[in-house]
Amino acid sequence: MDRIVIVGAGLAGLRTVEELRARGYPGEITLIGAEQRPPYDRPPLSKKVLTGDLDETSLRADLAALRAGFRPGELVTGLELGDGSGGVVRTDGTEYRWDGLVIATGATPVLLPGDGRQRVLRTLDDALELRALLKPGLRLTVAGAGWIGAELATAAAGLGADVTVLDLAATPLAAAVGPEVGAHTAAWYAAAGVDLRLNQGVEAVRPGGVALAGGGWLDADEVVTAVGVRPAVSWLDGSGIALERGVATDEHLRASAPGVYAVGDCASFVSRRYGRRLRFEHWDVALHAPEVAAANLLGGGEVYDPVPYFWSEQFGRMLQYAGYHGGADQLVWRGDPAGAAWSVGWLAAGKLVALLATGRPRDLVQSRRVIASGAPVDAARLADPAVPIRDVAGR
Ligand code: FAD
Repeated sequence: MDRIVIVGAGLAGLRTVEELRARGYPGEITLIGAEQRPPYDRPPLSKKVLTGDLDETSLRADLAALRAGFRPGELVTGLELGDGSGGVVRTDGTEYRWDGLVIATGATPVLLPGDGRQRVLRTLDDALELRALLKPGLRLTVAGAGWIGAELATAAAGLGADVTVLDLAATPLAAAVGPEVGAHTAAWYAAAGVDLRLNQGVEAVRPGGVALAGGGWLDADEVVTAVGVRPAVSWLDGSGIALERGVATDEHLRASAPGVYAVGDCASFVSRRYGRRLRFEHWDVALHAPEVAAANLLGGGEVYDPVPYFWSEQFGRMLQYAGYHGGADQLVWRGDPAGAAWSVGWLAAGKLVALLATGRPRDLVQSRRVIASGAPVDAARLADPAVPIRDVAGR
């Protein structure tokens, strides 16, 4: 293998370059990114960039030292697979031959119907434009009380904007952590002066505001749509690469054609640990999956099987989530969810499969190990916040 092309110059794309070189790959690397900027970090975009505490979030990659040909501002439009192996990726103006391909195109925000302007929060430019608008008295409507909606509401309310958050679900974070857990975050909005309207869909975003599902109108100077993302894989339509809510890979992050791998937000991989195909929009996945893809591109047989990790900073709290709770059959609270610090664990057949820690970072660290071990846990001891999580397993 001597010509590797990586499509998508976000964290996962950059990490793939780094991992290929760290493993001694001597050949050509081309990193193609639709954005004009070198790779940068996204988590601060909805936090310190919005509040003005940070102006840029560059990942400070020395692509020249990594001997990577960087092609910013080029949108890849199609993929052609060769006979047997290798192929070509096409951009608007040119094409690149490859014998190894890594797909790292991330995800793009979903929009709502309507002819009004909808802002999103995905790129540094999105964040900088938004922050210029966040002034006292701005009537801001945020569609979606998920992770991004909550972080944006935190920053905007802190800057004096008049914030309304709408969500179709009965609680915030319903899709992410389920309504029973998400319900305990609703009070945080009111305490921050944010008007949270649940069970409230959006019919359409219109100039000057939002037409509400079920009738009604909400005036807004700006509307930000934060209702989730879709993997950015439309450029693969018709290419022969199998797609299943993202690029379908096996547990080695191998896509359906030889020499093709996928990493980060766009990859839907088979998890041995959870016995199903999973796709995460987690920074930690974009950081580590490239280790496995790079090793396997170079002939390895490594398996990607993380205990996934995600964090969010909202309403003055640090939330950290480890694992995956699909398939859980029991919820165990650790501490009072009305208080400042608490955790909640999800069990499946007596084993800890996921944990959300609010202001309890030690719970998070220890739970990752317990989840990884797959050992049964004592639910009564897990429910006692005074018992370290490392001591609830294996009894
Ligand atoms: P991306 O970062 O999306 O990079 C993909 C790149 O590919 C993009 O630059 C895109 O322009 C480019 N691209 C797409 N299509 C093409 C194409 N056809 N041709 C060429 N280039 C293309 N995670 C956490 O764990 N904690 C957090 O607190 C957190 N906060 C976040 C806040 C925000 C505002 C956002 C947007 C995300 C946040 N995340 C967080 C998620 C995390 O940032 C992502 O999981 C991570 O960025 C995924 O990296 P990636 O490289 O897979 O994709």
